[in-house]
Amino acid sequence: MVATREQLCETIHQEIDRLPVFKTKPTSISTVPKDGIYFWYEDGEMRMGNRGQRVTRVGINERPGRLHGRIKEHYGQNREGSTFRKHLGGALLAKDGEPESEIKEWYRARRSARFKDSKFCKYEGLVTQQAELGSYRVLKVTSISEREELEERLIAIFSHCSHCSPSDSWLGTHAYRNEIRLSGLWNVEYVCSTNEFQNQDLLRLRKRVRLAR
Ligand SMILES: [Zn+2]
Repeated sequence: MVATREQLCETIHQEIDRLPVFKTKPTSISTVPKDGIYFWYEDGEMRMGNRGQRVTRVGINERPGRLHGRIKEHYGQNREGSTFRKHLGGALLAKDGEPESEIKEWYRARRSARFKDSKFCKYEGLVTQQAELGSYRVLKVTSISEREELEERLIAIFSHCSHCSPSDSWLGTHAYRNEIRLSGLWNVEYVCSTNEFQNQDLLRLRKRVRLAR
């Protein structure tokens, strides 16, 4: 029997749930893989039927051995180099009623004159607090082409799954980018992709999970 998208998405979540969960940034002695796909979780964001947490962001390292660095960037010091931090801060600013012009300013690069002004420094602190509330799991995948392929397919299915809708209180409902608000993921790229994870991809996902445990 062919599984529906929602059944397949639930199976993927259950597989990933077997991986260890991390609540702090990776360190030199942590067991977080150095190459792979990370899955982000936030309190209160559950799959339909309270079966477990839903994934709220998917990311990979592009350069070899750089996954620790990628994840550490989400925890601070600033938003340069971390699109996730930019999205979190944009949502916090919008939730506080800041105008769109300020949110656009927040998204600008480090060379912008206001990158470090006191208001944005305050939001950097709030973004770090928000990141520290999350947790993550990592699937070790050493091949960059496989990481990229799985990333797209997973984002595509999670964003389309009707059992993985965001809660009413999800911070991402205030996100600046409508891809985030609509998909329930802190992702922009691939949320509309038709290249979704398929039943036949489960085999290699299971194999990767088994090897990682
Ligand atoms: Zn789902």
